[in-house]
Amino acid sequence: MKRILVTGGAGFIGSHLCGRLLAEGNHVICMDNFFTGSRDNLQGYMGNPDFELVEHDVQEPFDIDVDEIYNLACPASPVHYQYDAVDTIRTCILGTMNGLDLAVARKAKFFQASTSEVYGDPLVHPQLESYWGNVNPVGIRSCYDEGKRCAETLCMDYHRQTGVEVKIIRIFNTYGPRMLPNDGRVVSNMIVQALKGENLTVFGDGSQTRSFQYIDDLLEGMLRMMATEDGFSGPVNIGNPSEFTILELAQLVLELSGSKSRIIFKDLPSDDPKRRKPDIGLARRKLQGWEPRVPLREGLSKTIEFFRTII
Ligand code: NAD
Ligand code: UDP
Repeated sequence: MKRILVTGGAGFIGSHLCGRLLAEGNHVICMDNFFTGSRDNLQGYMGNPDFELVEHDVQEPFDIDVDEIYNLACPASPVHYQYDAVDTIRTCILGTMNGLDLAVARKAKFFQASTSEVYGDPLVHPQLESYWGNVNPVGIRSCYDEGKRCAETLCMDYHRQTGVEVKIIRIFNTYGPRMLPNDGRVVSNMIVQALKGENLTVFGDGSQTRSFQYIDDLLEGMLRMMATEDGFSGPVNIGNPSEFTILELAQLVLELSGSKSRIIFKDLPSDDPKRRKPDIGLARRKLQGWEPRVPLREGLSKTIEFFRTII
């Protein structure tokens, strides 16, 4: 039985990951400061002797006996990471350093949840891991984008200087049950609007694209990446390469929810990436043929059913 720390374990992805790791027979320690996480997400695990909850801010050092660390602590929605930008960059950098220090001290494997945002508003399409990105270093998304880029740098420098084993994945837009209704990201926003009969807000003209991945596909990719044994550190893209415009997404949400809501257009936020789609060739090769299995229609239907139960 492995002892596994999940920072950000009370969040959307982290709570699903805790469940999956428990189901595979591990002892799981969830660390969270509940900035965007919720105790509701952990209800199914509380009382399980193999589950521990530690309320702690990763910006402060921590010492726990562990074999593996998944570093997910960081607000992920633009609304939340821009709420206190300085705090976001502190979490990205200090949180990653504290996690890496623990990995070195305990000879644990360290897993970094990086992001497609490291590519910024990409000039190469689809995005390959070898592309270094097009990020505005001084814009409103920079606290997150540059914070996550620096976190990748820290992982690789700790790895080269101390030999600690690191695993970096770049997650592309992922959605599913347990996103917060006020999360602010496009999938949850539009589903909540559709179910409440409110207007669906499309930012800009809706021609910008994203490639949406269902949570179960991400979890499978994460576990396979952590299990790689040939010294592979990544970074590796984990996402669904099916690309949709935001307007197409809005239309699909209306169709699948049966909502009579209308679509309205609002100003596009600054630095909003125009196109995003992962090249997943490296993941296929390194992660035993991993690829996403859940099409957008199916994943959206499951997510709509989840939101029907909570709003
Ligand atoms: P989320 O906001 O639901 O979860 C983040 C969790 O981290 C929350 O539980 C929050 O309370 C916790 N947290 C934030 N700051 C903390 C701190 N200083 N100390 C302790 N805990 C803290 O977001 P998510 O979608 O589950 O994202 C999880 C991770 O995956 C993040 O690192 C994010 O950058 C990364 N990621 C997510 C996506 C996506 O599409 N969901 C895409 C790319 C990368
Ligand atoms: N978006 C939108 N309506 C919303 C929320 C977001 O049209 O209510 C757009 C946003 O401008 C972006 C895309 O949807 O072009 C994805 O936004 P999200 O915040 O989900 O993720 P990110 O921009 O970080 O990929």
